[in-house]
Amino acid sequence: MWKSRLFTPGPTSVPEEILLEMAKPLIHHRTPQFRKILVECFSGLKEVFQTKEEVIILTSSGTAAMEAAVSNLLSPGERCLVVEGGKFGERWREISVAYGIKVTSIMVDWGKSVTPTQIEEALRKEPEIKVVFTTLCETSTGAHTDVRSISEVIKRFPEVLHVVDGISSLGAVECRTDEWGIDVMVSASQKAFMLPPGLAFISLNQRAWHRVAERKSPRYYLDLAAYRKSLEKEDTPYTPALTLIIGLAGALRMMKAEGMENIWRRHAILAEATREAVRALGLKLLAETPSNAVTAVWAPEGVDAELLTKVLRDGSGITFAGGQGKLKGKIFRIAHLGWIDQFEILEAIAALEVQLAKMGYQVVPGVGVGAAEKVFLRQK
Ligand code: PMP
Repeated sequence: MWKSRLFTPGPTSVPEEILLEMAKPLIHHRTPQFRKILVECFSGLKEVFQTKEEVIILTSSGTAAMEAAVSNLLSPGERCLVVEGGKFGERWREISVAYGIKVTSIMVDWGKSVTPTQIEEALRKEPEIKVVFTTLCETSTGAHTDVRSISEVIKRFPEVLHVVDGISSLGAVECRTDEWGIDVMVSASQKAFMLPPGLAFISLNQRAWHRVAERKSPRYYLDLAAYRKSLEKEDTPYTPALTLIIGLAGALRMMKAEGMENIWRRHAILAEATREAVRALGLKLLAETPSNAVTAVWAPEGVDAELLTKVLRDGSGITFAGGQGKLKGKIFRIAHLGWIDQFEILEAIAALEVQLAKMGYQVVPGVGVGAAEKVFLRQK
């Protein structure tokens, strides 16, 4: 018998008290009772997004918020810039192409992060670019993007908007939407927000809202203007996923109690411990600039990463994520994201040691766990 534990970059574990909250009998959504919860969510989301702008809640997974960004900010025939350094950067291109938008891609080796200079060069070369899409954590590679410095560069081009996919790491790593000049921020419920999948979030600043009215891409359910209009009346245009929104209110309360800076620090420590542990086991990281949300690790010579994640799941109850796209079978990914603490990291590393050893990889028992513990002991 094994207890199931999720170390995947979505979905992540949901705290028991939130599960209980969501199990209560349903209420109706056009009631003062639900409106109070909704208002609490709108305010809590601003804190996590680090914005004074409204944060729209969509009933969908994160990709719909990405699609909303594309269809509300660009018209067919206009040009955008995307960074293809993994599966989710590619998704910005795929969505844009589906809407008839011209795409310029910066191709980045998987595991590397785009530099502000690359963005600046692309913008200088093609002045018709209207929007730059970046990914805060490229979940498929575990690479972190310096969206702050990229925003600084983009500000030199007054007609260009910066849209960030923060789906897998907003609320886990430091990201200050307003202060850093990010125009549009996108996220989703099943990662740092500690909730099941089913809600997506998007915030736009005033520069971005000005664009929305003029843009001609077809849209109905994802017409953000409708959400904004309802939001002014503390409402939603369509039936919201009220069970998840009730859960969201609980999750945001927990995040407020911990404080954003403490949350960012917790994730930084968990990530460092994970990185130190896998290095101590003689394994190599994929990302040059790793995110504090997820650590992508090359499987050692002779070990199939797909098989490793399978035996970890079936033989230890520990679910890591495998590789995506061209990295399938080559890497595994350990997420240290959301509702997770130091001792769970030790469990994950212990299970990794055991299963690697069973697969014939030379492991000194406890060496990875010890390295992680040393990181924890260094903290005051
Ligand atoms: N972007 C990133 C960075 C992600 O990690 C994910 C989900 N893994 C997505 C987009 C897609 O989100 P969803 O699966 O919620 O539609």
